[in-house]
Amino acid sequence: MHPFAFTRAVDVQDALRTASATPAAKFIAGGTNLVDLMKETVERPAHLIDITHLPFKSIDATASGGLRIGALVTNATLANDERVLARYPLLANAILAGASPQLRNAATTGGNLLQRTRCYYFYDVGTPCNKRRPGQGCGALHGQNRIHAILGTSEHCIATHPSDMCVALAALEAQVHVIGPKGERTIAFADFHRLPGDRPDLDTTLAPGELVTAVELPAEGFAANHSYLKLRDRLSYAFALVSVAAALRLDGSQIAAARIALGGVAHKPWRVEAAEQQLIGATPGADAFDGAARTLLAGARGFGHNDFKIELARRAITRALLQAAAGAPQSIIDKRIG
Ligand code: SF4
Repeated sequence: MHPFAFTRAVDVQDALRTASATPAAKFIAGGTNLVDLMKETVERPAHLIDITHLPFKSIDATASGGLRIGALVTNATLANDERVLARYPLLANAILAGASPQLRNAATTGGNLLQRTRCYYFYDVGTPCNKRRPGQGCGALHGQNRIHAILGTSEHCIATHPSDMCVALAALEAQVHVIGPKGERTIAFADFHRLPGDRPDLDTTLAPGELVTAVELPAEGFAANHSYLKLRDRLSYAFALVSVAAALRLDGSQIAAARIALGGVAHKPWRVEAAEQQLIGATPGADAFDGAARTLLAGARGFGHNDFKIELARRAITRALLQAAAGAPQSIIDKRIG
């Protein structure tokens, strides 16, 4: 591990000042990903700014009927919050599908958004990786790419975003509140994470020195008809090969609103509005859902080892939507898929 300075921010302005004065600084809260990356020398910040004493630890009702989740709310607290369980069970289920109880006790809401890919080559500093060092090449393109992306890839990077929580937040159309040297702003969740393009080193649209302060959920939580289906190599403590956050609002026998977000398939949670639009007015069923899946996966491309993900995703989307329509979400206790 490289030497670094460590200071604790006493308030938000203190955190921003220190970040502005030290461009190679990083904020740290739970540290569940950053510390691993520092041990592997993938990340080498000159200065860590401990933000754990900042006032971002509450979950509050908003005037518009939603919830504002402080960036320092832990994943465990969020997943077990009674309001989240009752009104946003899709989010609770996605969080509980990820990591381990120990990690969820330490990991924070803001940190979950900012965790980095689990591409093997990104972690192995002896191999080329454009995300770790731009211009170096991509070890995964012609290497072991079983866990890699099938959508939104570029010739520079085919990594996936590893979060489960973010897949649900994308489906729920959350907003991300940030503060930085130029003041506060709000970023739509769909615009927070980037596709790799020719800058795979940039995971998000955060400007230098900006700090995530909260994530806001809108009023609609799709509590009656939702499912988070996560397919992985082990039934626990494994990242998604493919995951689906499916949410429907039903009006009698017809679909009035639909949201579908995919994890494990792209550099960001993957949504295609046309796939959701084509379900509006349709009768829930395998035919309609398979049609939406095909729209979501239009342009999907495998790189050899991960070719199987295209068919896996098609079936997972249909399955998750059927579960959502039946009001029978994928069990987070019995994770087997019948
Ligand atoms: Fe690096 Fe992205 Fe290639 Fe993985 S897929 S080796 S993260 S450039």
